[in-house]
Amino acid sequence: MEVQWMNWYMWIGNPILATGIASFLLHEIVYFGRCVPWIIIDAIPYFRRWKLQPTKVPTAAEQWECTKQVLFSHFTIEAPMIWLFHPVAEGLGMATWQVPFTDLKTMLLQVFFFFVFEDMFHFFAHQALHKGALYKHIHKIHHKYSAPFGLAAEYAHPAEVFILGTGTIAGPLLYSYFMRDLHIFTVYVWITLRLFQAVDAHSGYDFPWSLQHILPFWSGAEHHDFHHMAFVNNFSTSFRWCDWFFGTDTKYRDYRKKMNAAKAALKKSGKATPEELRALEDRINAETEAEGVRAEAKVVADATGKKVN
Ligand SMILES: [Zn+2]
Ligand SMILES: [Zn+2]
Repeated sequence: MEVQWMNWYMWIGNPILATGIASFLLHEIVYFGRCVPWIIIDAIPYFRRWKLQPTKVPTAAEQWECTKQVLFSHFTIEAPMIWLFHPVAEGLGMATWQVPFTDLKTMLLQVFFFFVFEDMFHFFAHQALHKGALYKHIHKIHHKYSAPFGLAAEYAHPAEVFILGTGTIAGPLLYSYFMRDLHIFTVYVWITLRLFQAVDAHSGYDFPWSLQHILPFWSGAEHHDFHHMAFVNNFSTSFRWCDWFFGTDTKYRDYRKKMNAAKAALKKSGKATPEELRALEDRINAETEAEGVRAEAKVVADATGKKVN
């Protein structure tokens, strides 16, 4: 792989161009590639049993509309930013065309640091985006879908792509500046995993084998789906610990308790058919979403200076 890496840079002959093309292709291939399984799953009714909001399956038209918007922002906002990445990275001491890559143990530790940094950055920046004019003019676009799907992960205002993208890129840049031993290949590994995380968190499905059931501090779709449905709580990306520590997951926990208690009561009554259980789940979800719609309207009205009842 290191030989291929060298060959790529020599073949292109211009390191800025070589990094730019590789970064852009990596993003497109990983992002849309990771969305494909979710598009297929959405088309197969068998998987509805694991859908977090089963009444809300995205239509093909909705998915296409979302794809067009995401592509537009990739070509207009992201492409120029990617162009700047190589000079900035080199200026901060990052290895780019050079080989060998970093050893595996160091690479894993670096990637873990980027995960933690991004999660904390996102936690605070995302909360700021839920306030006043920032919400009304920027973050509202991402909240178009109260039941997200994979492709909706990057469906956002260009300013949001820039603000929240900083959390993904600033970790490697700061690390490189202070530690001087980062290879861009490690950054690609991180970006790939971060894209998987973002698309999966928006997938709308919680399977028994989803990562959050193996690592209880992993957020996953079950955590972020609630954020889209209820509009409040769960501001972080990869981990549950920030929301837990700062108390921004209380409504989410109440919702889980309410859902489990209602299901247990129904089962105890002996009348729990799969249809009854499903209807119960749909009712609690609809109530939670209605509260979210009111909370969102209030933020928008406050930003506009209007009163809302
Ligand atoms: Zn949000
Ligand atoms: Zn989201």
